[in-house]
Amino acid sequence: MTYGDAEFGFELLTCRWAELAWPPEEPRDSSVVVSRQLGTQKRRWDTIVVEADPEALAARRKFGTDALDSDLLHVVRNAPADWTWYRDALPHPGYPWRYVREAIHEAAARGVVEKRRNGNRIEIRRIAPYPDWVNRIVAVENKPDLDASAARALRSQLDHDVETALADEVWVATAATESAVEPALMESMPVQVGILTLDFSDGVHADAGDVAWYPSTMDPTADGERFTAVEKAEKRLAIAERAYGKGWRSFHDTMRPDCRHFELRREGRALVPWCAAKERAQTAAECSGSCPEFSPEPPQWRTGGWPIEGGPGKGIKRLLDGRREWVRERQ
Ligand code: SF4
Repeated sequence: MTYGDAEFGFELLTCRWAELAWPPEEPRDSSVVVSRQLGTQKRRWDTIVVEADPEALAARRKFGTDALDSDLLHVVRNAPADWTWYRDALPHPGYPWRYVREAIHEAAARGVVEKRRNGNRIEIRRIAPYPDWVNRIVAVENKPDLDASAARALRSQLDHDVETALADEVWVATAATESAVEPALMESMPVQVGILTLDFSDGVHADAGDVAWYPSTMDPTADGERFTAVEKAEKRLAIAERAYGKGWRSFHDTMRPDCRHFELRREGRALVPWCAAKERAQTAAECSGSCPEFSPEPPQWRTGGWPIEGGPGKGIKRLLDGRREWVRERQ
């Protein structure tokens, strides 16, 4: 297997597989938004699948393709249908109003709310009702080599996930091997966590996933020890918004597609990064300006439309951005 040995490569393939085939071994009745490396300050999940109501997700597009952060959500979700002074329209945020005014200006600049001056008062009006688009949030921890010590190392993180119940479901995804996942290995993980085996030996295909253990559904609407139900709802929507804005192909923002050795390779139905200098899938961390083999693409690659207009680096970014947009529209 070329990819999947490195956790980063496996993570990208898992994301692409989830985009094609989530939920595993069941028919799809939601739209899915897939992202990676998101969560809370304390816990970042490898892969996030947001199961969304298809119509509501389509309505979400009116608010643009970028994520709305919690300050913007406060304005957008509470903006009234008719012009109203913002302090009458919005619930007190629990922090000074001047921050709300800043959020209103930003929201208006992004076109996600309307604002006008009436004397010395700022009035706002919504562009559309903000839709209730998130049905479920699923967290997936990727461990291609899931052995006993990896399972033990994961234990405290998975316990945390079960205890906080921010996600509706938590899974561990591992690379399929000749042998089945050992019962002893399952026993070292919380029983509520699902185990998924993914066979990417022929690249990504919709039927690459098998369920070794089904997870329990958690209840994010209940008060918990760490977060109240209201706090959870806010955090979940913020995570879903970031997933919506980021997708999973944004690795080109942090890696170096402008390096002459950076390539995208096809693995079944996925396109994933490849380093021609190292002759292997590079990790996101090593693919940086400090990489000893980094070599900027020659200036002439950026001109004259060779081989992709703007040079391979820009072409790769455009390609990945285009795919992210295409998936959003199709969902
Ligand atoms: S040589 Fe280094 S910077 Fe260039 S593509 Fe490979 S890992 Fe990335």
